[in-house]
Amino acid sequence: MSKAVFSGDVIVSGGGLAGLTLALALHRAGLAVAVVDALALDARTAPAFDGRASALAYTSWRVLEAVGAADHLQPHARRIEDILVVDSRPLDGLKRGGPGPDQLHFDRREIHPEDDGEPLGWMAENRHTRLALARAADTAGLTVFAPARVTGMEDLGARARVTLDDGRMLEAAMVAACDGKASPLREQAVIRTFGRRYNQDALVLTVEHERDHQGVAYEVFMPAGPFAILPLPGKRSSLVWTERTAAAHALETMDEAGFQEALEARFGDFLGAVRPVSQRWRYPLGLRMAERFHAPRLALVGDAARAIHPIAGQGFNLGIRDAAALADGVVEAKRAGLDIGSEAVLGRYDRWRRTDSAALALGTDAINALFANDHAMIRTVRGLGLSMVDRIPAARRFFMRTAGGETGDLPALLRGEPLSL
Ligand SMILES: Cc1cc2nc3c(=O)[nH]c(=O)nc-3n(C[C@H](O)[C@H](O)[C@H](O)COP(=O)(O)OP(=O)(O)OC[C@H]3O[C@@H](n4cnc5c(N)ncnc54)[C@H](O)[C@@H]3O)c2cc1C
Repeated sequence: MSKAVFSGDVIVSGGGLAGLTLALALHRAGLAVAVVDALALDARTAPAFDGRASALAYTSWRVLEAVGAADHLQPHARRIEDILVVDSRPLDGLKRGGPGPDQLHFDRREIHPEDDGEPLGWMAENRHTRLALARAADTAGLTVFAPARVTGMEDLGARARVTLDDGRMLEAAMVAACDGKASPLREQAVIRTFGRRYNQDALVLTVEHERDHQGVAYEVFMPAGPFAILPLPGKRSSLVWTERTAAAHALETMDEAGFQEALEARFGDFLGAVRPVSQRWRYPLGLRMAERFHAPRLALVGDAARAIHPIAGQGFNLGIRDAAALADGVVEAKRAGLDIGSEAVLGRYDRWRRTDSAALALGTDAINALFANDHAMIRTVRGLGLSMVDRIPAARRFFMRTAGGETGDLPALLRGEPLSL
């Protein structure tokens, strides 16, 4: 039997957004960690690889600060100061130069009143977030194997062994599957998933507009799904334009003049002239949740544990919360001299994260069903609902704190406290 090329505390399979966040949190706390990714960093951060930009909740930003990635990301990120939620119909609402009456306004000063207080969140293109995490990993001296694909994991009793496609082996007390929504390690551990494919795809692109967005994020509910305008640095916004699958495909493949016309009709002119400045990407949408988040010596993290509808911009935020909760338990166990891959440690992580995940997975599913409905009575009721919440300051603050990730039992990293042994 050949010798393992790495023998330590934790092996992270998947150096995506969730995997690198977890690996950095553990490495900086003093654990011996190795990350494996199937793709080289250049491939994962190439402009065409991922067109998405993510809304990062303010507690997620605290985690990126604690793991040393926020400084690298800040020049490429934009604070979200306000969020406007609008219930609209095609060619309505924003088209007339601003949101209509059935709207809900979240203002960060209601929960963080200081002039330089925390924003509601930050917007950053995923490729910049990946690069910032990779730079932090480099600075911290994290061990990374890439490109290398994990082909299997074996439970050796007191340790776990991971095999790579080039035959190399790694050993550790536990393995974190951060290998995305199709998670090969989850499949290998025979953890079932449930969920469904929505008849919706998200078209994603970056646009430039004449006027400054002033850090306002817009979520416009349309009958086919939400249309989000999310502020990026400069006079640029990232669009998440949800349509039925066939319509999204048509938009994706439309010629430039036709697409410009469709864009203007949907976006309106409230930020002046608007034009695409990126290619168009299309993401099929679905809900997938693992029936459990752990197996012997294995923890599921990020999209490997659950992938949800982007309607609330929470997918990666949930992955960050997974990473923070798992790191909390693992560091505490290591400090106490306990087995970090034991059932006690991984079972606690599972219980902690599955409740929050189920609530958000079902919540986003229900909101999507409620708003992607053009029935006149339902429109009236949800318009009333938005206006009611808009009039109740305590309700607005509750929603802002929930979206910001500041609910329930917060792991130390979400409170902005670094971990150490
Ligand atoms: C349209 C859209 C908009 C979104 N907007 C937001 C938002 O605003 N805010 C938000 O929080 N979330 C958002 N999300 C969700 C977010 O993008 C995902 O939750 C996040 O990218 C998942 O990251 P991850 O690290 O878990 O998985 P991934 O990014 O899929 O990373 C998995 C990694 O594992 C590697 N890998 C896979 N198999 C192997 C293997 N066998 N061996 C080694 N490596 C392997 C891959 O190469 C990859 O690097 C959005 C999603 C969509 C579709």
